[in-house]
Amino acid sequence: MVQISPSAFTSVQCQIMPQGGLQALSPNKAHLKGLFFSHAGVSRSVAVVTAFIMKTEQLPFEKAYENLQTVKPEAKMNEGFEWQLKLYETMGYEVDPSSAIYKQYRLQKVTEKYPELRNLPQELFAVDPTTISQGLKDDILYKCRKCRRSLFRSSSILDHNEGSGPLAFAHKRTAPSLVLTTGSQAQCTSFFIEPVQWMESTLLGVIDGQLLCPKCSAKLGSFNWYGEQCSCGRWITPAFQIHKNRVDEMKMLPALGSQTRKL
Ligand SMILES: [Zn+2]
Ligand SMILES: [Zn+2]
Repeated sequence: MVQISPSAFTSVQCQIMPQGGLQALSPNKAHLKGLFFSHAGVSRSVAVVTAFIMKTEQLPFEKAYENLQTVKPEAKMNEGFEWQLKLYETMGYEVDPSSAIYKQYRLQKVTEKYPELRNLPQELFAVDPTTISQGLKDDILYKCRKCRRSLFRSSSILDHNEGSGPLAFAHKRTAPSLVLTTGSQAQCTSFFIEPVQWMESTLLGVIDGQLLCPKCSAKLGSFNWYGEQCSCGRWITPAFQIHKNRVDEMKMLPALGSQTRKL
């Protein structure tokens, strides 16, 4: 039994072969040929093997998949696995649950797992910033421009690279932090964020709608579980979008708890 990585990749966790183990997964081509495909080269096995090549050789997805197909041309995996492995690559062959990429992926899975959009796991929602008094270092707080109610923190922003392609994944291997900061913000007029607790009643059981300030009901943005397009052209799925001109950025002062200073 082999485990590639935690929860996000549950679907890639499986037994490659009864006699095989990690050692069997050396990049040695003879080994690859002899061991992997005693049973038909099904998508899942191909994905597992590709993930191992990526991890052990620190190879990007395309390269690892290509190497495997050189040895075993009939090795094919479905698009779902390709997508997961590109995500895995973008995260640097690790799974970081606090990364924007991981959060976005987890949110995408929600619509598959909970098509009714009800009884969603609580951990999907970021803690309401009004309930936390202490700021983290370098944390920025976003408040309603009209009534000053705290809405979300910078750690809830799910940044994306600008563009019009279906996926934000870089094809070259890039450190996750770099991926998240390379996109210039100039053309994006909204923040796409993870859902925050105060949105819960609005989001449950509803596919799309407006996001209003929980205190003064000012219109802040919109949401759509099946995605919305950013002003830069990129589709974000699902989307919880807050217009930048409806909020003010405040730097949190860690030593003084909830006090904030306008940037
Ligand atoms: Zn954008
Ligand atoms: Zn407000």
